[in-house]
Amino acid sequence: MERYDPEAIERKWQQVWEREGAFAVPNPAPGLAREDEKKTYVLEMLPYPSGELHMGHVLNYTLGDVVAHLRRRSGYRVLRPMGYDAFGLPAENAAIREGRHPRAVTEENIAAIRTQAQRMGWSIDWDREVSTHEPGYYRWTQWLFLKFYEAGLAYRKEAPVNWCPNDQTVLANEQVIDGRCERCGAEVEAKNLEQWFFRITAYADRLLEEMELLESWPERVLTMQRNWIGRSEGAEVIFHIEELDIDLPVFTTRPDTLFGATFFVLAPEHPLVPQLVAGTPHEEEVLTYARHAAAQPTIERADPEKEKSGVFTGRFVTNPVNDHRLPIWVSDYVLMEYGTGTIMAVPAHDERDFAFAQRYELPVQIVVVPADGEPPEDEAFAGHSADERLVESAQFSGMSSPEAKKAIVEWLERRGKGRPAVGYRLRDWLLSRQRYWGCPIPILYCDSCGLVPVPESDLPVLLPDVQEYLPKGRSPLAAAEDWVRTTCPSCGGEARRETDTMDTFVDSSWYFIRYCDPRNDSAPFDRAIADYWLPVNQYIGGIEHAILHLMYARFFTKVMNDLGIVGVREPFARLFNQGMLYYRGAKMSKSKGNVIVPDGYVKRYGADTVRLYTLFMGPAEQDKEWQDSGVEGMSRFLGRLWRLGLEAAAQDGNGGEATGPLAAAAHRAIAKVTDDIERRFQFNTPISAVMELVNDIYVAKNDPEQAGNVRFATETAVSLIQPCAPHIAEELWERLGHERLWATPWPQADPAMLERDTFELVVQVNGRVRGRVEVPVDLPEDELVARAKDLPRVRSYLNGREVRKTVVVPGRLVNLVV
Ligand SMILES: [Zn+2]
Ligand SMILES: [Zn+2]
Repeated sequence: MERYDPEAIERKWQQVWEREGAFAVPNPAPGLAREDEKKTYVLEMLPYPSGELHMGHVLNYTLGDVVAHLRRRSGYRVLRPMGYDAFGLPAENAAIREGRHPRAVTEENIAAIRTQAQRMGWSIDWDREVSTHEPGYYRWTQWLFLKFYEAGLAYRKEAPVNWCPNDQTVLANEQVIDGRCERCGAEVEAKNLEQWFFRITAYADRLLEEMELLESWPERVLTMQRNWIGRSEGAEVIFHIEELDIDLPVFTTRPDTLFGATFFVLAPEHPLVPQLVAGTPHEEEVLTYARHAAAQPTIERADPEKEKSGVFTGRFVTNPVNDHRLPIWVSDYVLMEYGTGTIMAVPAHDERDFAFAQRYELPVQIVVVPADGEPPEDEAFAGHSADERLVESAQFSGMSSPEAKKAIVEWLERRGKGRPAVGYRLRDWLLSRQRYWGCPIPILYCDSCGLVPVPESDLPVLLPDVQEYLPKGRSPLAAAEDWVRTTCPSCGGEARRETDTMDTFVDSSWYFIRYCDPRNDSAPFDRAIADYWLPVNQYIGGIEHAILHLMYARFFTKVMNDLGIVGVREPFARLFNQGMLYYRGAKMSKSKGNVIVPDGYVKRYGADTVRLYTLFMGPAEQDKEWQDSGVEGMSRFLGRLWRLGLEAAAQDGNGGEATGPLAAAAHRAIAKVTDDIERRFQFNTPISAVMELVNDIYVAKNDPEQAGNVRFATETAVSLIQPCAPHIAEELWERLGHERLWATPWPQADPAMLERDTFELVVQVNGRVRGRVEVPVDLPEDELVARAKDLPRVRSYLNGREVRKTVVVPGRLVNLVV
């Protein structure tokens, strides 16, 4: 029999798909989109071309491919594009490691990824390929930046920022994980710099509320986003520095503890610090401390276990509720990035304030106690509940905690010294990067006109091809004098270009809309076309982007919606996070040196085997360990299917209606595969279902009564495996005398066939399985026992002995005890 030759088969079909444009999906002509048309947009997060694709990517794109194939064959128009997140640190750092220009390395990697993707046989519409580093793309990233700027949503300010000393650039808060750089793991430092920000905080509430529009997102991701936004209700309270006549607003979630405030703390990087101590005896000590403290890693400063340090400024603020004068300290346990960088310290009811008070011998004043108990001996940092009441709080004493919160804020508000307020953990998105390999920010600086946006007609601001691209603390673009110097479009005088580039997360915040209309050169996309395809119906990617890409893309979509650029408010209706791959006991990662790439496996076993194994390893959402023996197993299974297919092809089709147990097994497989993929989003169990069917066919093909159904069952197995292993399926389908399985309607299970009229009776002797037999479901119990005893193998175990007891589990088993 002809040997299964995956390489030849896969090449053949990949060429056919390309020649026929099998997976290209044209946009509907303007105005011709039909309301009732079934369409779907399946998308996996786009790769960084910082290297070739590894098995984690293979899993990601194969999951999407299965969904895309199934929906195509279920009558949907399916949009399934591919592109590259080409700008930014991942690609640039890869280039620097190789000592070559980022453009050269990035473009080589893109070519390699494209080849890999085509070799895997993913059903991608290659006509829509997009790369974020191409001027045809980033022109529109710049255009969107200008729209944000016009709307007041992009602004420039000096602020303390996170500085990665290794990557020599600033990072957004979202890119700092436990005080370290998200990309390289270096400890992040604080630095004061004039930078560009997106006003994502203006969308904090909408990012929370409109989670309702998300059809199906993992709860874990929603929780992470909620925590990151960190909305809390409380009050803004205005403290006052009499000597300098300065108001110091503070956000607190505990206005009920205002009478317990005994001191006040500023973050070391708070802009007011130098002013407080200027010309005083405290100046030198405070500024030295502030400089030192601001340089400490955030993670250490935020650690509640860390011993507190601080320094007194010599100044006092007045507490608006009781006119007490509270000393102002500077301490590193207050972070500028949370709240206002100022706190009213209530040591009796806050653990960290208490530790600080102990260290510097500051007073502790209890103001909230349990309703039915004594004031605690030692300081209790209990939460505020209706069971607690206020003490030592003037007219508010005796009120419950929640009551007092309301009453105190009202009292403050009447006096113009406070108001109810909502606090957020979320900060604005810092988008400037002091790096070469990114999208230039389309802004000019003119001595006469100040900050001038580049006119739309002058876009794109091209990234110059400099040879000096290494990071050095300021953008390498600043050294490209010819590029930096330009003419002011407003006054015609001399102007200088912004030399920072954009965070690569800006590029990826709208790419999924560009795919809808990727060659448009008069707009980022046509709104009608975008509205036709959006939102992405199924998005697939890793959990690591839960609060980075996924929140930024939601923010961008909302802004574009408000500006009338796009119709949807949420970009991704459904989200699926696939699990991580492990190899040799550790998570696959470049740094651990245990990354496996598909190429060697594809060469040896074929793409279908590799696709099948990544899906079969385990439930898609769980972490899984890669095992070479598992690949072998998948290869053997495809060999079995191949032989079965060729045998069936060699026989005449019976043409008659498929009936009997084998046909029923085929219908059950159809029902299971469809439900598992569509509803349960499971990809390993459908493969098991097809394997079972193949086993059934092998058993049945020697049974003359069922031979007539072998062809139907084999064709069903081939058809069902097609989304997972499209090449072998296509080849067998052709040999079975059909055409274009990829465009053939998905098989439908006949409900009548799903009702089983027989079942497999398990027969035990003394509790051990000694035989199995297919029997009608309606057989009475005594008949079941008779059939069981009649099995030759069971007879030999019974060996004439008397059966003392018989246990029957209807529909399942008979146990004979002797
Ligand atoms: Zn870094
Ligand atoms: Zn000017």
